[in-house]
Amino acid sequence: MIMHIKNNLDKIRTSISKDVTLVAVSKTKPISDILEAYDAGQRVFGENKIQEMVAKYEVLPKDIQWHMIGHLQRNKVKYMAHFVDLIHGVDSFKTLKEIDKQAKKHERVIYCLLQARIAKEETKFGFTLTEISTILNSEELKILTNIKIIGLMGMATFTDNLDIVANEFSLLKTFFDEQKVQHSKLKILSMGMSGDYQIAIKNGSTMIRVGSSIFGARNYIT
Ligand SMILES: *Cc1c(COP(=O)(O)O)cnc(C)c1O
Repeated sequence: MIMHIKNNLDKIRTSISKDVTLVAVSKTKPISDILEAYDAGQRVFGENKIQEMVAKYEVLPKDIQWHMIGHLQRNKVKYMAHFVDLIHGVDSFKTLKEIDKQAKKHERVIYCLLQARIAKEETKFGFTLTEISTILNSEELKILTNIKIIGLMGMATFTDNLDIVANEFSLLKTFFDEQKVQHSKLKILSMGMSGDYQIAIKNGSTMIRVGSSIFGARNYIT
C-alpha cells in the first residue's frame, strides 16, 4: 500500500514552523484515512458537520482532539459538547450562549474561536471586526463561564489573486494583535487551508486547517 496520507502530512509538517498547529480536515473521509494520519502521528482533526464528527469520535482513539470548523447548527451543539476540543466557527452570540449552556451540563469549559468575515463573498459566515471587539468587551460575555474565546478564525476570498488573499489575512492579523493587547486569552489565529496556508502563515496564522492536501480531493462539495 502506498502511504499517500503519511507522505502528504510529512511534506506539510516539514514546510511549516513548529509553532503552527496543523488541523487535519477529515470531513467526508473514511475512518481508514483518519487512522492512517493517526498512525503517522496526527492527533488534531477537523470536521465541519457535527453528526459526522460524533460518529468518528465514537469509533476512533480517544486521544484525538476534535475541532469543529464548520458553520454551527445550534440545536446540534449538545451532541459534541462532551468531547469537542475547539470550535472554530462561532458566528453568533446565540451560538456562544448555547455552547456555554451545553458545556455547563458536562462541567467543562469549551474553547471557541470567533469567526471573522474577511472575505468579499456574501456567502461567508462570520462577524465583522467591529462586532468581534464589541463581543470581547461585552458584559454578556462575562456571564458565559463555560466557554473561553481563545482566538479568531478567518477564511479568505476564494480567488486566484493571491494579493487579495494576503491582504485579507494581514488585515485579520493586525486586528488580532490589537485585540490581544486587551484580551490576553487570545492566542490562536486560525487561517489557511490547502490552497492558501503558506500565505496565511506568512501573515501570522498560528493554526491551519488542511484537508485536500492531506487526504486528496473530496468527492463532493461540503
Ligand atoms: C473544508 C474546510 C477546510 C479545508 O479545506 P481544504 O481546501 O480541503 O484544505 C478548511 N476550513 C474549513 C472551514 C473547511 O470547511
